[in-house]
Amino acid sequence: MAESKNIGIFICTGCQIGDAIDTAKLRSIAEQTSSVRHCTEHTFLCSAESRQQITEDIRKHQLDSLVIAACSPRHAVANFAFDKVLTERVNLREGVAWTMEHGNEDTQMAAEDYLRMGIARTETSGLPDPYLLENPVSDILVIGGGISGMQAAIEAASAGCQVLLVEKENDLGGWLNHWHDIIPVSGGKQTNLNFFLQEKMDEIKSLTGIKVLCNTTVSSISGEPGRFSIEVNQQGKITDHRAGSIILANGWKPYDVTRLKELKYSDRQNIITQAELETMAQSGSITKPSDGSPPKNILFIQCAGSRDKEHLPYCSNVCCLTSLKQAQYIRNQHPETNVFIVYKDIRTPGKNEHYYREVQADSRIFFTKGEVTEIADNVDDSMAITVSDNLLGEPIRINADLVVAATGMVPNQSDDLNLQYRKGTGLPEWKYGFPDSHFICFPYETQRTGIYAAGAVRTPQGIQACMEDAAGAVLKAIQCIESVKRGQAVHPRSGDESYPILSLQRCTDCKRCTEECPFGSYDETEKGTPLPNPARCRRCGICMGSCPERIINFEDYSIHAISSMIKSIPIPDEFEEKPRILAFICENDAYPAFDLAAQHRLKISPYVRIIPVRCIGSINTIWLSDALSQGYDGILQIGCKPGEDYQCHFITGSELMEIRSENIQETLQTMMLEPERIQTVFLEIDEYLRIPEIIDDYMETIEEIGPNPFKDM
Ligand code: SF4
Ligand code: SF4
Repeated sequence: MAESKNIGIFICTGCQIGDAIDTAKLRSIAEQTSSVRHCTEHTFLCSAESRQQITEDIRKHQLDSLVIAACSPRHAVANFAFDKVLTERVNLREGVAWTMEHGNEDTQMAAEDYLRMGIARTETSGLPDPYLLENPVSDILVIGGGISGMQAAIEAASAGCQVLLVEKENDLGGWLNHWHDIIPVSGGKQTNLNFFLQEKMDEIKSLTGIKVLCNTTVSSISGEPGRFSIEVNQQGKITDHRAGSIILANGWKPYDVTRLKELKYSDRQNIITQAELETMAQSGSITKPSDGSPPKNILFIQCAGSRDKEHLPYCSNVCCLTSLKQAQYIRNQHPETNVFIVYKDIRTPGKNEHYYREVQADSRIFFTKGEVTEIADNVDDSMAITVSDNLLGEPIRINADLVVAATGMVPNQSDDLNLQYRKGTGLPEWKYGFPDSHFICFPYETQRTGIYAAGAVRTPQGIQACMEDAAGAVLKAIQCIESVKRGQAVHPRSGDESYPILSLQRCTDCKRCTEECPFGSYDETEKGTPLPNPARCRRCGICMGSCPERIINFEDYSIHAISSMIKSIPIPDEFEEKPRILAFICENDAYPAFDLAAQHRLKISPYVRIIPVRCIGSINTIWLSDALSQGYDGILQIGCKPGEDYQCHFITGSELMEIRSENIQETLQTMMLEPERIQTVFLEIDEYLRIPEIIDDYMETIEEIGPNPFKDM
C-alpha cells in the first residue's frame, strides 16, 4: 500500500449539499491534513467542466488519490473514475444533505466526520494492481450436447470463440433423440423435430470454431477462469484441453416415478411416464405395455409429483404442453381413443394458449381440473381413477387402460465434473438441486466462478427457453474471459481490480479462509496453508472477515483502512449527549436501500456514521473491538437476508455473520459491554421505508443502556 499520498479533495456544493452544511469548514479540515495537496469546491462537480478541471488538477498537483465529497458512490461512477488515480467517494448528498436537517450542528458534525473517514481510508489504501494471467485462454468448454449445449456452442462460435463441445452419448441431441416431435413453437404449426435437429447439426458443422467430442466425459477440471485445465476421457483415450470458461449444459432427468407410491408404478404395467410415451410414439406404436394392444382410454396425470412439497415443490414448465402434444400423437394414431387430462392448472404461457385452445377443440380430448386421489385396478387390466376436488363438486371416476404420469424435471448432478477444488468436485447446489449462485440477481452463474449453467440443469424449461438460456450463459462466459484478461472481477463487483493479498508469513494454517470462501477460491497445501486462485475470486472480502490473524487484505479495502476510518473521528464525551453509532452497511442491498431512503428524503439520525462494506461477511471482529474501544456507543451491521428465499449476494456472508456473532458476544463480554451494543439487521433493497425506524429503535436501545464506558478512556 502506498506510503505517502498526494490527495486532492473535491467538494460538491450542488444538490442541496451547500444548503445543508458549511463546506468552508470541510475545506479547513482538509487543508489541515498533511497528505492533502489540493482542496476545492464546485457547484456542479459531476459536470463535464468539473471533470476537466479535476483532470487538470490531477496533473498540476500530481495527485495520486482523490476524495470526491459529493453524491453516493453509486452515482456518477464514470464521471469520477480517473486512470491510475485512487478515488474515494464521500457521500455528502444522500448520506447527509438529503437525510439530515440543514444547517444543524449535528448535520455539520456528520459531514465533517465523513470527510475525515474518507481521507483516512484514502491515506491507508492503495490503487489495486490487477491480477493478470500469463497467456489467458479464450476457448470455451461446453459440457452436454443436448439442445442447450448445442445452442451454446453455436452462440459462442458465432461470437468468435473456439469451442470444445463434449457429449457423453454417441450423438449430439440429448433428449431430442428420444422425442417423437417437439412442442409447436409458440402455438404455431407442428414443428418437425428431425428437421429442427438436422438444422442444428448442420449449423454446428458449418462453424469451424466448434470441435465436437461424443462418447466423451470430463474426467478433471482444475485451475481458474482464463486457464482451466480440462482432461476428457473419450472411450478410454485421455486428452488434455484448456478453456477460459465453461458452460454446463448437462440437462435433466425425469423425477423418479417410483417415489410416487400411490401410482404403484413398478406393479402396474399400464402406468407409464411422459418420457416412455414419447419413446413409444417415436417407435410408431402407442400401445398398452401389458398386452401390446391399442389403448381405448388414456388418462394423463399432470403435476405428478410436481408442485408438491413432498416431491418437487416447483413447476417443471413444460409438462402441460408436453401432454397436449402427446394427446395429439395419440389421437393421430388412434382416432377412436379418448384422452383425459387431469390437471391442477393448465400452464401454457404466452402464445401457447392458442395451442391449448386447438387441443381443447378435439372432441375426444377431455380436460378435468382436480386431484387424482385413488387408482383402483379393474378386473381387466384397466384402472378406475378417482378425481376429487374437481369443478363438479364431487369425486368422479374415469376408467383408463393407460395412465401417463407427467413427472417433473430434475437437474442432473455435477459431481462428475471432477473439479480439482479444495471445496469439492461438483458445483454447490442451492434450492432443489439447481446449481445457482443467486437465483434472483445472477442468472447462469454458479458458485464456481467461470462456470455457467444453461438449460434445464439451471431451471426447468423447454426448448425455446433452453436456446435463449444458452445465449445468456455464453454472454456470461465471454464476459468472464474478458474480465479475467483485464484482471477484473465478474459480477457483482464487475470491473473491480482488487483481489485478496495474503501475508502468509503470519498464517497459522487455521483454514478459516479456505473453508469460508463461498466460491472455492482457495486450494491449500497439505499443511493447510491457503493457495489463492485470484481469478476464481469474486472479491467479497469474506476471507478478510474470517481471518483471525488479519493477514488477508485488498489494496483498497483492508483491515487497516477500515480501522483507520473508525478511529479518524472525534467521539463526543458522554456529557455532550451526542451518541455515536457505527453502521456497517452491505453495498449490495442495504446501501442502495439507504440511497432510496435519501431519495425519498426520509430522515436518518445524524448520530450514525456509515461505512459501506462489500458483504457483512467481510466484517472482521477487530473493527468491532476497535470501534467499541474508541467509544462508539453501538454498532449496527446491516446486510442481505440469509436463507433460501432471499440470498446473500455472496452466498453465505449473512449466515457467516450470524455464526460469528458468538465470537462477537465473547468480545463484548471480555470488554464487559452489553450484548445490545452490537446488533445485526437484515434488509432487502425495497425495504428502505424501514430504515429510519430501524435506526431510531436502535438509538432508543442505546439510550436505555447508556453511553459506552470506554468513551472517556
Ligand atoms: S472469500 Fe471472497 S474475497 Fe476471499 S477469496 Fe473467496 S471470493 Fe475472494
Ligand atoms: S484464515 Fe488467515 S490464518 Fe487462517 S489459514 Fe487463512 S490466511 Fe491463514
